[in-house]
Amino acid sequence: MYAADDGPVDLDVTVVVKKLAGKSGCTRMVQGGYNAVLHSEDSVEDHYMDTIEGGKWINDQKLAWTLVENAPKVIRKLENDLGVFFDRDEDGHIHQKPFAGQSFDRTVHKGDLTGIEIMTKIRDELLTRDVTFLEETRAVDLLTRDGEAVGAVVLDMRSGEFEVITAKAVVLATGGGATMYSISTPALEKSADGQAMAYRQGLPLQDMEMMQFHPTGLLAGDTKLTGGVIEEGIRGEGAHLYNTEDERFMEKYAPEKMERATRDIVSRASYEEIMAGRGTERGGVLLDATHLGTEFVEETFPGMTERTRNVGQDLSTQRVEVSPTSHYHMGGVTIDANCRTNLPGLFVAGEDAGGAHGANRLGGNGVVDSTVLGKQAGQVVPDRIEGRSPPSYDPDQAERIIERITEPLNRPGGADVYELRDELEEVMWEYVGVVRTGEKLEEGIERLVEIRKRLEDVAVSGSRRYNLEWNEYMDLENLALIAETVARSALYRTESRGAHYREDYPERDDDEWLANVHVRRNDDGMETWKEDVVFSQTHPANVDGSIVTVSDNTHAESN
Ligand SMILES: Cc1cc2nc3c(=O)[nH]c(=O)nc-3n(C[C@H](O)[C@H](O)[C@H](O)COP(=O)(O)OP(=O)(O)OC[C@H]3O[C@@H](n4cnc5c(N)ncnc54)[C@H](O)[C@@H]3O)c2cc1C
Repeated sequence: MYAADDGPVDLDVTVVVKKLAGKSGCTRMVQGGYNAVLHSEDSVEDHYMDTIEGGKWINDQKLAWTLVENAPKVIRKLENDLGVFFDRDEDGHIHQKPFAGQSFDRTVHKGDLTGIEIMTKIRDELLTRDVTFLEETRAVDLLTRDGEAVGAVVLDMRSGEFEVITAKAVVLATGGGATMYSISTPALEKSADGQAMAYRQGLPLQDMEMMQFHPTGLLAGDTKLTGGVIEEGIRGEGAHLYNTEDERFMEKYAPEKMERATRDIVSRASYEEIMAGRGTERGGVLLDATHLGTEFVEETFPGMTERTRNVGQDLSTQRVEVSPTSHYHMGGVTIDANCRTNLPGLFVAGEDAGGAHGANRLGGNGVVDSTVLGKQAGQVVPDRIEGRSPPSYDPDQAERIIERITEPLNRPGGADVYELRDELEEVMWEYVGVVRTGEKLEEGIERLVEIRKRLEDVAVSGSRRYNLEWNEYMDLENLALIAETVARSALYRTESRGAHYREDYPERDDDEWLANVHVRRNDDGMETWKEDVVFSQTHPANVDGSIVTVSDNTHAESN
């Protein structure tokens, strides 16, 4: 949506969205906030280095630089042009709070409901333009002709009717698929659709093994709120983590940064404690914010306080049960700093794309990614379409897509799609989760291949109109495919780095693995290979804490 917003107003834009525009997806769920350099004592270079060090040096450096350099511009545009309100200090400056892994407090926010504020204003702005919204409509697959993207087959989920949309440029931004795990935070409609569409076109995906687990997903029994994130601003403000033996266990794992250590470290620490039998009966650890004061917690984190109260716990007065929860996929489609892919006419932005965050995304850099890359896409698409005549598509290709996707509706009987979905999530949690081994990954891959095979027999009942079971099937087809790319990439990377931890290769190995794992479809199945990181902006050997050769655009103005 931000791509549509940042492009020229006279473009003929169609936004296809699986749920409601501006009211779905994860940007709307952003609680903590948005990292941007706004203070004279902060610098774009520091934000950049935090991002690279957080990403354990395998980020696409050009992409990372693009994010941090443009973040302050986007904040100003959101505020000045779209009327987004951010919290302010008493002196009138935008308030910036601490987030884990940051060398400066640079997280801009609107209470803990930042995403709602941003998405509502972007949507309001687009409603004033001549943009066509196709809501509750899912993109099913891309259409190509002569080696270029020319549109997509989409399904109106309400009527069950397919439509072909041709376009001179297609921007994929379906938000990845961290929902492939049994405990996860993202919006449930996200199912790696964009990544799967790109994969089916033979495009390379990268860093797929890098799945971020947020350390503090709420444990709320058998409810949809399980996995929902208690945002890390609360750890930034000083909340502590305890095991059931009343030990503040981060003392053992990260004695300096403690609970403010990056997500991968805190998640693994919690996981180790749970596995060592020092977790709660439901498999969690305890987050304690009570020493910050009831009033402070209620006022600073109203959304989260309410959420915990809704499930019979109370963040402001009690320790609450939390577990690592899959949260964000650093991996995705390989793009350049202008969101271009190897398929001309196809642009990818946001969580569908890989590279910017390397092995670990810093909190507050996710929404930077979706808006800055959205902005980049919005700005380069006009060049792509300039002077092009409207594209035509191949009706046979569209027909083949529709046939594939409607097949389960015509089968007499077969595997149950909901059971397969549960199985997929459990396999991912157990075999491709927070702590991995080669043996488990191999077993996980076998199970995933088998799930994909059984999917070929799934039968779906009912008609095409608002058929939830059929939509679950389509979600699962994409999730299972992308889950396998995650498992294969994880097996390929024989070291530990960032979010990827191998018990059988516990050390980070810079000699072999300052590299990105890529995966793509080939005639025999999935092909996995690695490519060395291009140190276009700065090299690990150059860093002595102060020397970074990036650009002379170091300091942002104070706000
Ligand atoms: C609970 C939570 C809290 C977070 N807090 C923060 C934070 O404080 N700061 C931060 O920086 N990041 C945060 N993140 C991460 C951040 O939300 C994501 O990085 C970002 O929102 C991803 O944006 P996106 O545009 O890629 O996807 P989304 O905003 O998720 O949008 C994807 C859209 O694609 C639609 N879609 C999916 N499939 C299809 C399809 N087949 N066809 C058509 N439409 C489709 C979805 O309905 C949705 O509208 C948080 C994430 C979660 C889950």
